[in-house]
Amino acid sequence: MIIHMAEGATSDQVQHVIDRIMRDYGLRCETIVSDTTVIGVKGIAAIVDEGRISELPGVDRVIRITEKFKDASRTFHHEDTVIDVSGVRVGGPHLTVFGGPCAIESEQQALDSARMAREAGVDVLRAFVDKSRTSPYDYRGLELRRGLEIARAMKAETGLPIVSELIDLRHLQAFVDAGVDVIQVGARSAQYSPLLEELSRINVPIILKHGFGNDMSEWLCAAAYIMSGVDREGRATAHGNTSVILCYRGIKSFESETRFSADISMIPLVRTKSHLPLIADPSHSSGDRKLVERVAYGFIAAGAHGIEFDIHSNPAEALCDGKQAVGREAGRIVENMRRIHAMLAGVGMESGATVMAPAK
Ligand code: PEP
Ligand code: MN
Repeated sequence: MIIHMAEGATSDQVQHVIDRIMRDYGLRCETIVSDTTVIGVKGIAAIVDEGRISELPGVDRVIRITEKFKDASRTFHHEDTVIDVSGVRVGGPHLTVFGGPCAIESEQQALDSARMAREAGVDVLRAFVDKSRTSPYDYRGLELRRGLEIARAMKAETGLPIVSELIDLRHLQAFVDAGVDVIQVGARSAQYSPLLEELSRINVPIILKHGFGNDMSEWLCAAAYIMSGVDREGRATAHGNTSVILCYRGIKSFESETRFSADISMIPLVRTKSHLPLIADPSHSSGDRKLVERVAYGFIAAGAHGIEFDIHSNPAEALCDGKQAVGREAGRIVENMRRIHAMLAGVGMESGATVMAPAK
């Protein structure tokens, strides 16, 4: 972080800024004096509130060099993070497929869809009990206990780990007790800090969706909330959940022909900015089964570590998002994604960059 002092700032004002940074954040500074004075903050300046510093007398402007999302940033953690989801690896050289019905509607529908997803070759099964819907009149899931019972049955039937979205903090313990292997934070909750803080205190891996009104930095800051476990005074605590999987799913734009707008260049960009595993959701971004397959291939070619997509045994009868769920073609999609992934394994995230052959 660099603090540019205004022309005519006094040496007392300069010293006051330096003292405040030492007192409030324990960080040291260095100054360069030419026509004006420039103060450089040494060390990890992610904790410094630039708003507060820019209010001090004599300060012209504060320029941040390092990002605010330290724990999620590749600057401080060069290697790809690989996360273990009940024996399934996510990130690094691995391609991981998350799939299943958008929502649990009934035991029959959930088990049929779960079997279809397993046959297609998914690694982690969607078992969504609570649904966050835009309108209160849309299907929002079964009663919690019944939903979790079916989620458990899906897991037992397929032998696959399950992912489920947590909307209500009061349901967290029930999710953990039911053996949910990955907890998803949906696009609508992606910046809800009480939820993120609570998830920093548990040991279960998290999928963090990209909020559809957030930019990259806000998304990675949300990941850092879960990972850092810092308290309100900015002090490190014993908590912090470093098992965060990012999931890109497109943002709102003026385009109404697709459900959301997915910017494919976000995939290699986020891979260079963050060490976390990054997957993408071609169902919720495109909103249309006819588009899902090609979009899925695009995400993998762009460098995603996997996808999460909707698979339904009978999309025409689905109570939630049937239009974007694929059926039997899921198997072909998974197979082709694995081919694309293997073919591009030696290509780096930036043009001209190469990577080592993937570990077996
Ligand atoms: C979902 O994955 O079921 C979902 C609702 O996605 P999003 O939070 O990205 O809208
Ligand atoms: Mn859905």
